[in-house]
Amino acid sequence: MFGIMIISRIAPTPSGFLHVGNAFNFLLTSAWVRRNGGRLRLRIDDLDTTRTRPEYLEDLFETLAWLGLNWDEGPKDVQDLVLRHSQTLRRSRYLEVLQDFMRLEVAYVCVCSRTDLEKRPCLCREAKNSFNPGLSRIRVDLDLPGAVKKTVTIWRQEGIPAYQLVSLVDDLDHGVNLIVRGEDLLESTGIQRALARLLGNRQGAERFESIRFLHHPLIQGPDGNKLSKSRGADALRVLFPRSGSNEALLELLEPEISRFIDSPR
Ligand SMILES: [Zn+2]
Repeated sequence: MFGIMIISRIAPTPSGFLHVGNAFNFLLTSAWVRRNGGRLRLRIDDLDTTRTRPEYLEDLFETLAWLGLNWDEGPKDVQDLVLRHSQTLRRSRYLEVLQDFMRLEVAYVCVCSRTDLEKRPCLCREAKNSFNPGLSRIRVDLDLPGAVKKTVTIWRQEGIPAYQLVSLVDDLDHGVNLIVRGEDLLESTGIQRALARLLGNRQGAERFESIRFLHHPLIQGPDGNKLSKSRGADALRVLFPRSGSNEALLELLEPEISRFIDSPR
């Protein structure tokens, strides 16, 4: 293989049991990376500790093993996650990037409650409120493709960085150059690209522009519903008991994986 080595990641959130849609994304990403001799990282989006539960973390590692998935970087098990890889250990890093957004004066402290925001426009951008890490939300107004204006939260009121900031920073820091994600995250891709552009050449953000994104269709379950969110009953462990082999699931997903690899979007 010539050219740059592919570095990609799978990024589950331990706020529920994994479902068939997750398995499809992980197997597709892995197939793409392995076919090209690249490296795969497991990144666990565990920052929202109010939603992370031990049984979800255990399910995650059990499921990856059951699927036969191997990864080159990232936590090997729950203990390794907690001690070395948890996003909660990287809080100061996310704060550092947040400070750049503040210094650039593109981000602002918003003190509106969720109900306020439903009732009236937020005027906090002009108000120049001061930041209280446990109470203030930090937002950025973005211009997305197609002249779409979008306001996104990069630091949550609960005192933790928001998904869009964390995903951007982790992908930059981990040297990721290929992201395979569902079409339901198309908007997130636009948001993260816009955030990276605002940072310019700070924090290595200029590299984000060269990341290749592949957005795959969401696969449909037997009932015709798109399997992007777990509704409990469609948890992988329920549909495919761990005592059995993974063959039936692989048979279900492999045609979709081959189709996408042969003609990616
Ligand atoms: Zn506000």
